[in-house]
Formats: sequence, structure tokens, C-alpha cells
Amino acid sequence: MPDDPLAALPPLREVIARHELAARKALGQHFLLDGNLTDRIARAAGDLSTGTTIEVGPGPGGLTRSLLRAGAHRVVAVERDRRAVAALADLAAAFPDRLEVREGDALAIDLARLGEAPRRVVANLPYNVATPLLIRWLRQARAFESLTLMFQKEVVERLAAQPRSKAYGRLSVLTQHVCEVTPLFDIAASAFVPPPKVVSSVVRLRPRTEVIGDLSRLEAVTAAAFGQRRKMLRGSLKGAFDDPDAVLSRLHLSPTARAEELSVGDFVRLARSG
Ligand code: SAM
Repeated sequence: MPDDPLAALPPLREVIARHELAARKALGQHFLLDGNLTDRIARAAGDLSTGTTIEVGPGPGGLTRSLLRAGAHRVVAVERDRRAVAALADLAAAFPDRLEVREGDALAIDLARLGEAPRRVVANLPYNVATPLLIRWLRQARAFESLTLMFQKEVVERLAAQPRSKAYGRLSVLTQHVCEVTPLFDIAASAFVPPPKVVSSVVRLRPRTEVIGDLSRLEAVTAAAFGQRRKMLRGSLKGAFDDPDAVLSRLHLSPTARAEELSVGDFVRLARSG
């Protein structure tokens, strides 16, 4: 085994060519081949020297290499595309104790049970399943020490949005209640192969300890309120409460306000009130 097994690996472009890993749109495939950029994402994930770093969608393995280079104790990478799983075989063979590649759909696998705690998720997410994956992780956020994720920039803006802004919505309330949200940096479309149509952004989510016991109630209330965001709350909340006027007045919230005027805390109080 060479001193630095990473240095002995072929360049990612060669791996892609050898395994005929032409990007497939249906799988949201946009690959990052610039090691400096993937190193930056790995660094953003913090200390990886304990527990398990879970990577979703490793593709040809650029970010996976960076996680290993950053000292990840153990990486479990979940990939749906069989061609990519095959392309990762050399990397897995070079790090038999530190890298496990699992073929599968991240939406169907319970990531909270992979490897040992502390668990953290790091991923350049496939755009088409990024939001459903995030919602699922929010429901089990305490299982993770942190989530360092790349989304379309517009999604990161929604996650971090403040009340009374256009981007503020259901995803902002759910994410900010469950996690501390720190937008980190943008990555230009030109950094990807093939380039997507939009700018991407990396965000770090740190799950909070004090969260509502039943997230599904907060999901229901925010779905009702933002589902009809132009309506007054007394009307839009009819789907979530028998008597929205009574609930709003008990909480000293204006029945004529609109969803975007309520803070995250206001929504949590609503969700807790039956
Ligand atoms: N991490 C790689 C990189 O940065 O170059 C690839 C990122 S690419 C945006 C998304 C990856 O997720 C692809 O490799 C794709 O095959 C994989 N993927 C798509 N849907 C998936 C799913 N449901 N479960 C697991 N992996 C998936």
C-alpha cells in the first residue's frame, strides 16, 4: 500500500471515462471534479475524526476522496447509480477500514442507523430529491451531529429566510425550528460537469436539542398557512384548526395576519396548541 493511497488513484475524469459514467439527468448528476472545492466542502463539515460520516450520492467520488483526505474516521456512502458504485470500487479497496459504499436509494434507507454515532451527513445532493431528503432528516434530526449539504442556492435562501420575505415559507420554519442554519458559500455552475442551470450553495445545519415533540403537527400547520400564503390566517388555518380565530386570539396573534408575518416561534406555539 503506498503512503498516500489517494495520490495513487487515477484522476476522476479517467474514472468517469473508464466506467462510462456519463451524467444522467434523471439522477440529478452534476459532478464536482475540482479537489480544492470538494476539500472546502469536507472542511466545512468540521471534525470528522469520530463516528460516521454519511455521504449521499458520491457519484465518481470527488467529495468522498476529500472526506477521507480530511481524516474521516469512517465514511458510509449511499449511491443509487450502479455505474457509480462500480466506479468507487478502487477507492473502497484503498480504504477498506474507512470507506463503505452502499448501493441504494437514500430515500429508502434509514441513514440514522448507518454506522456508529456521532453521525453527520455530508452531501452534494441530487436536486430532484434534495427537499424530500431534507424533510426526512429534519424528522430524525437528533440522530445527526450536523448536516453539511449542497443545494441550489435558491433552496438555501429558503432555508435561511426571515419572516416578511418572499423566500420565507414552510421549509424555513421547519428547518430553523429543528436546526441552526448557517449558509456557507456558493459554488458556480461552471464548477460542475455538466454545469447545472443554477448556482449552488453549501449550508450547515446543526440540530437543536429543544424541539417540538411532534414535527408532523408543525408540518401540518405550516402546510395550511403557506399553502394559501396570500390569505389571512383566520382563513388559511381552517385546514389545521376547527376554530382558527379562537386559537389565534388565545396566542395573541392577529387573525388578519398572513403566514409570512409569523415568526418560527409563533408557528411552534400554534403547532403546540392543539
Ligand atoms: N457527490 C458527487 C459530486 O459531488 O461530484 C455527485 C453529486 S451528484 C449532484 C448527485 C449524486 O446522487 C449522483 O451520483 C446520483 O447518482 C446520486 N443519487 C441520485 N438520487 C439518489 C438517491 N435517491 N439515493 C442515493 N443517491 C442518489
